[in-house]
Amino acid sequence: MTSHVVVLGAGFGGLELASRLSESVSDLVEITLIDKSDSFMFGFSKLDVLFGRQGVSEVWHPYRSIDKPGVTFRQETVLSINAATRRVVTDGGQYEPDVLVVALGADYDTSATPGLAEDGYEFYSIAGVQRARDALDAFGGGAVIVGVLGGFFKCPGAPNETALLLHDYLSRRGMRESSSIHLISPLPMPIPISKKTSDAIAAILRDHRIEYSPGARVTRLDPQTHVAHLTDDREIPYDLFLGIPVHCAPDVVLASDLAEEGWIPVDPTTFATRHPGVFAVGDVTSAPVPRAGGIAEGEAATVAEVLISQLTGGSSALPYDGAGACYIELGDDLVGRIDVNFLSYDTPVAKFTAPTPQLFEEKREWGATRASRWFGR
Ligand SMILES: Cc1cc2nc3c(=O)[nH]c(=O)nc-3n(C[C@H](O)[C@H](O)[C@H](O)COP(=O)(O)OP(=O)(O)OC[C@H]3O[C@@H](n4cnc5c(N)ncnc54)[C@H](O)[C@@H]3O)c2cc1C
Repeated sequence: MTSHVVVLGAGFGGLELASRLSESVSDLVEITLIDKSDSFMFGFSKLDVLFGRQGVSEVWHPYRSIDKPGVTFRQETVLSINAATRRVVTDGGQYEPDVLVVALGADYDTSATPGLAEDGYEFYSIAGVQRARDALDAFGGGAVIVGVLGGFFKCPGAPNETALLLHDYLSRRGMRESSSIHLISPLPMPIPISKKTSDAIAAILRDHRIEYSPGARVTRLDPQTHVAHLTDDREIPYDLFLGIPVHCAPDVVLASDLAEEGWIPVDPTTFATRHPGVFAVGDVTSAPVPRAGGIAEGEAATVAEVLISQLTGGSSALPYDGAGACYIELGDDLVGRIDVNFLSYDTPVAKFTAPTPQLFEEKREWGATRASRWFGR
């Protein structure tokens, strides 16, 4: 008898989980991997698209390439989830698996920031990053704000990386001298768990003449005057506003019996929800770790170990350690790395490794390894 595992969402978490189960226990499980999209895109590829380094068509990884023992991919949209009965309804059918794993990621609420849709550009969604890229293409120089609009968001390093890559982009286009870059974030420092790491990143921002306002959030944009209004009462004019939108769980999760206070609570050592046989990983949970691909991947690896141990009767899975690495790209083929560990010690820790060309190669390899493991290329 095989166990039926349904994985909702084929992003970082879902792809890693399906791959691990297929590698280790394909004879014991039948895995159905469901995603509404036909392809996957790495989060960091959106910055490549934004700054014109790659076209959208070059950064897609089609799910049809997945060819793994025990794994069936279905392109379907999840319409409802009942965790108590482990019943899932999609636009293609219904599922009542032995094990359900929710890995549906985070969505964006652009309406939470009045004026953003009319006069700014969010670059976190696929449609948004294409609009933002076109706006950058047409930009002739001036004041640019990179604004983080919510308290937590995917990839804590990404706003800094965006400002630094913008510096590189404007310099290459001969517009840096006629432009200013202002990074505004509600976080008290770039990487709040480490002052030392934050000081290193703040120094890099200063060296690149990027104005940095921590502890402040843009609450609204005025499309008439092109002015951003901040929580600290400042009003800052802009010619181009690039925003990291307020994040929220997908509607189908919010409407389910899994969501509490907007996200899915889990046991952070195993990623079990309060419903037997139901797990959740990645950006959709309220686990006390950052929202990042490398983190979602580690969570999925933990769930895989928990399931493998249950299926084989082997030794118990080790609790999730909350460790991961995040790369920060500066342009000019330079990349720095932040190693974090959120759950192994009494308090979370982070270590910064200064940017080098070697880390640029390491980041490229990091993405290539995942593409190869998940998609076989
Ligand atoms: C600009 C940017 C840069 C980033 N840089 C990095 C980085 O350098 N390193 C890093 O580690 N992380 C980075 N991230 C973060 C990373 O992309 C996310 O944290 C990661 O993808 C989360 O994985 P996940 O599996 O939880 O969700 P996702 O990867 O978002 O996957 C969720 C999946 O669920 C699917 N889905 C949603 N709703 C439904 C539905 N109703 N029905 C069917 N399918 C559905 C979606 O199509 C999606 O494929 C970046 C993100 C962005 C936006």
